[in-house]
Amino acid sequence: MAARVSRTTSLRAPRACDPTIDRADGRLVAMTTFERNLDNLARVALHVGVNLQHDGRLLLMGPIEASALMHRIVAGAYDLGARSVHVQYVDSRMGLIRAQRARPETLAEGPQAYADMIHTMAARGDAYLRIDGDDPDLMSAADPERVATMVRATREVMRPVSDLVQRSFLPWTIVPYAVPAWARKVFPDLPEEEALSRLWDAIFAATRADRDDPVAAWDEHVQQLGTAATRLTEGAFEELHLRGPGTDLRLGLSVGHVWECGGRASGSNGVRSVHNVPTEEVFTAPHARRVHGTVRATKPLSYQGQLIDDFSLTFEDGAVVDFTAERGERVLQGLLDTDDGARRLGEVALVPHSSPISQSGLLFYNTLFDENAASHIALGRAYETTIARGIDRPLEELQSDGFNQSLTHVDFMIGSAELDVDGVRADGSTVPVMRGGEWAT
Ligand code: ZN
Ligand code: ZN
Repeated sequence: MAARVSRTTSLRAPRACDPTIDRADGRLVAMTTFERNLDNLARVALHVGVNLQHDGRLLLMGPIEASALMHRIVAGAYDLGARSVHVQYVDSRMGLIRAQRARPETLAEGPQAYADMIHTMAARGDAYLRIDGDDPDLMSAADPERVATMVRATREVMRPVSDLVQRSFLPWTIVPYAVPAWARKVFPDLPEEEALSRLWDAIFAATRADRDDPVAAWDEHVQQLGTAATRLTEGAFEELHLRGPGTDLRLGLSVGHVWECGGRASGSNGVRSVHNVPTEEVFTAPHARRVHGTVRATKPLSYQGQLIDDFSLTFEDGAVVDFTAERGERVLQGLLDTDDGARRLGEVALVPHSSPISQSGLLFYNTLFDENAASHIALGRAYETTIARGIDRPLEELQSDGFNQSLTHVDFMIGSAELDVDGVRADGSTVPVMRGGEWAT
């Protein structure tokens, strides 16, 4: 359902150091640090995240609680000369209500009309900006199997959209927003207001929205990530060998695999967009049929509002053949049963343990943050941009080269200060890539 923003005229997009803001009544009032940082976050979302161009179209999606940020983004988009902005408010509680109350035989029906509308916008290359902020435990009150049925049905109807997104056909990004239930989960011992304020501090630091010139800071950061990705691509390893507590995993890599970082892939018009804000990772695709060994997660996984914790997976010939989970075993089972590709890997990402998000010492129960605090792997679909000429070649050809296809893509964390990674060359020689969770060189 589309919602229109009603107050776009009362906000203009201030510059980073602008000490004042115009209100609808024309008075000038001092901006608080919070307001300045929120303005900066909107700038980062538009200028770095989707890199919105003059005359571009924007699809903006976010939780109803995030309207303060979304108003700023809409104002900034029109100031940049946007042709149109479509705002889609999301109330994830509606999903919980459906999971608890709808007749069981109706849960397998995905939101086709909604998917068609989003696909129309994605297929013409509209920039897609999603605001992410939710209660990590929202769906825990519902039956995991009913939730899994709904999630699968939604993924099925959204597949044409996710195909375009995974191929980077359009500029897209995900940007965080602190909501009280999320803050309470991250800071369970603090009063709600303080928890929310602490979560915002962490968000502003990780997204560089607390800098005087956040866009310049991002340019520098993206360049550094690009250098690390290029070095790994040039390494042209045949496999990676990962070792850590509970982990001994060999990940085959396809011939011609490409290491990417969030700031490299381009949209249909060739414009750089940074797909996750924050981002600290460089990543590529493991070979779907050449993964062997066991891997232990180092952080809990919040999957569709349900927690999976203390879990490990064993792979043979690329597929999960065994798994254990102290918590959320049924949820993990549901994830693995999504389809054949959900039992195989579509991403391996390396993040130094010294990354700023990791150093915050916080567990965010949110993939956007936790995946940037630690090296991780993802069950499910790979990104075409991580395989040579992946965007131009037919899917069957990519699959025979080891590209994983699935309805899902779920990252989980395997990095720690004890993770060692070796690159293995075709002749069997090894090169240290990470030692003790840090780049070896
Ligand atoms: Zn990742
Ligand atoms: Zn991922």
